[in-house]
Amino acid sequence: MIDSAGSFDPAAPVLVDGFGRTHTDLRISVTDRCNLRCTYCMPLDAVFKPRDELLSYEEIARVARVAAGLGIRSIRITGGEPLVRHGVEALVRQLAEIPGVEDLSLTTNGLLLEEQASALRSAGLHRLNVSLDALEPEVFERIARRQGLDRVLAGLAAAKTAGFRSIRINAVSIRGLTEGEIVPLALFCRREGFHLRFIEFMPLDGESSWADGQVLSGREVREILTQHVGPLAPATRTDDGQPAVDYEYVDDATAAGVGFIDPVTQPFCDRCDRLRLTADGQFRNCLFSTTEWDARQVLRTGGSDDEIARLLHDCVRAKRAAHGIGTASFERPTRAMYQIGG
Ligand code: SAM
Ligand code: SF4
Repeated sequence: MIDSAGSFDPAAPVLVDGFGRTHTDLRISVTDRCNLRCTYCMPLDAVFKPRDELLSYEEIARVARVAAGLGIRSIRITGGEPLVRHGVEALVRQLAEIPGVEDLSLTTNGLLLEEQASALRSAGLHRLNVSLDALEPEVFERIARRQGLDRVLAGLAAAKTAGFRSIRINAVSIRGLTEGEIVPLALFCRREGFHLRFIEFMPLDGESSWADGQVLSGREVREILTQHVGPLAPATRTDDGQPAVDYEYVDDATAAGVGFIDPVTQPFCDRCDRLRLTADGQFRNCLFSTTEWDARQVLRTGGSDDEIARLLHDCVRAKRAAHGIGTASFERPTRAMYQIGG
């Protein structure tokens, strides 16, 4: 942060960008590898980073400690698929001990959750998001380009048994592909008590085939739900830190609700409080960043915590007002979602 005298104070305890947005949320990717090949994320012929280019768990925890000292309160572990990296519960344990971290969560495709849910819970993980776009095996496989629906469902059951509460299901909506899955997913989540969130398809797919015509908007999904499941009303319980706009079922406000993350049709950049650390140790200030700040280099050349803090401040200060999808100035990042960390 630059003080009134114009000097930089790397220890300034808040990460505020040029538009007054304070950053309290850090997404940490632990791998670019995955056991699925979702069409909207990863190419079939994905090439992965060599192992020595990925940050170790100790390096990640060090960055997280510095970030917490700068006001980061919420950390999400993601990937690639975080559960394919060996012993991720060891990282959870280290992150859970960092003073100031109030919310520690993980996003997974669920395939390996049955085996790992209990260890993750014991290590101190607070919350889980599980991605599930379809309940029809044929549609699941068309999207994921691998089998695994049964394992995701077994993983969800294991997560409940392990004691996770407020489990969220993330479903990407794609026109011409997922419309038939919306109602079955909503009924399943209502029955099981999972909070369902529909996410608009963003131009971050590894095969660069995104077209705006494929974006099935949150508004359209809401109309389908209202017609076939029941009327929805904006939720009275809201969480300002979330990009999702939450709705409740009018006939049962106690049932798990439905959220809509609409980055394409309703961008929420004005309230974005997120930063990202890629598996290969690069800070990003946006999913759509075209610039990265190299924390791995600082970590591996004997850099101090102050230098890491300075890099984070630089990254935050350079954040643009908005991603600009749909505008003439929009520039697609060269890295796809699995390489950034969703
Ligand atoms: N492998 C884990 C999973 O699938 O949950 C974690 C990483 S994944 C990149 C994180 C989230 O990003 C998932 O919910 C996934 O559906 C979402 N995602 C991936 N590519 C996307 C895209 N192009 N547009 C919108 N959401 C996307
Ligand atoms: Fe893997 Fe998650 Fe990307 Fe699907 S969305 S390919 S599960 S990283």
